[in-house]
Amino acid sequence: MPVFRSVPENSSAGNRGGISDAPTVRYCGKCLMPDTRPRIVFDSEGVCNACRHAADKKDIDWDARRQEFLDLVEKFRPRDSAYDCVVPWSGGKDSSAIAHRLKFEFNLNPLLVTFSPLLPNKVGLHNREELLKLGFDHVFVRPNQKVSRELAKRFFIERGNPKVHWDAGINAAPVRAAVQYGIPLIFYAEHGESEYGGRVLSAEHQKTRDFTEVIEHQIGDDPENWVDEDIAPRELAPYIYPPLEDIQRIGAHALYFGYFFRWSMYENYEYIREKFHFLTEESGRTDGTFTDFDSLDDKIDNMYYYMQFIKFGFGRATRDACRLIQNGHMSRKEGLELVRKFDSEFPKSHLSDNLDYLGLTEPEFNKTVDLHRNPEIWHMEGNRWKLRHPPK
Ligand SMILES: [Zn+2]
Repeated sequence: MPVFRSVPENSSAGNRGGISDAPTVRYCGKCLMPDTRPRIVFDSEGVCNACRHAADKKDIDWDARRQEFLDLVEKFRPRDSAYDCVVPWSGGKDSSAIAHRLKFEFNLNPLLVTFSPLLPNKVGLHNREELLKLGFDHVFVRPNQKVSRELAKRFFIERGNPKVHWDAGINAAPVRAAVQYGIPLIFYAEHGESEYGGRVLSAEHQKTRDFTEVIEHQIGDDPENWVDEDIAPRELAPYIYPPLEDIQRIGAHALYFGYFFRWSMYENYEYIREKFHFLTEESGRTDGTFTDFDSLDDKIDNMYYYMQFIKFGFGRATRDACRLIQNGHMSRKEGLELVRKFDSEFPKSHLSDNLDYLGLTEPEFNKTVDLHRNPEIWHMEGNRWKLRHPPK
């Protein structure tokens, strides 16, 4: 595990918060996730569905799942393509572990598809190159940067999330490649709603991604609605799924690797660092958390996770601690100490690059941050913002 360092508390100040009789925030009794996480479900014992899902994994027959995986690969393997499957690949520990296992453990030839980070950095580039050296074909999608930057600014100001369009892009790009190359099988990493707490419609949804449903609901809004006087419809192509008829024509089948093999972000990290020289965060840990090995390839991610803290009251340390608690790598007590220490840390690394990218001054940035503070979650004490209901 990385070295843990102490940091000063977040001292960003702003507008005075609102209501005094805000509803309380519940925290999962097993991990540290609050019920402010969108779509999370708590049971009558106060335990979140991510923790229940983690506990259920102990009863899974992983040998049977492995056989199911082999059967499905055989069934969907294309007979007339150079590639056996598409892997949406950031170059991080999780998608690299999947790509590596598919190629070297299962003798498949995956086509790796990367949708560019908003602000790529050296660590991400290095890690992608290291895996590619082992022998993979790679499609790198870098959308129109003028449009991407404009959308990042718009979504940061309007929604407190500079990556709304990027989310659409990373989802659409692998499917566009699958259609283009005629590769029916796509391996996504984990079913996030099951692993981290959220909406789980059925057991089948934990295994297979339903494109009809994804296209209708998951993106949340249609990229075609982002058109304005500066952005033409055709400039939004990288963010839009191929037509459903095309997806059905190639018989696309998208599976979650984490359904077939026990999913753990820390174990993926341990796996991949044995396979090649995987760089971690230079400074020893990323802003807002105690880890140095997760979500490293985009300079804007520090700001992205900080905004999650502002909007929902849980930050990057909570996110990491919950994942480690659920997979048995950390106790709740240890996690709580780390959350108290790091969750509120201001995203100072790459701040000037991020502000430059968004075209904002630091006061404009801080003002936007405070506009997104939920008054049910935050209030002012003295001249400092505090969580109304911190974890305990
Ligand atoms: Zn939990």
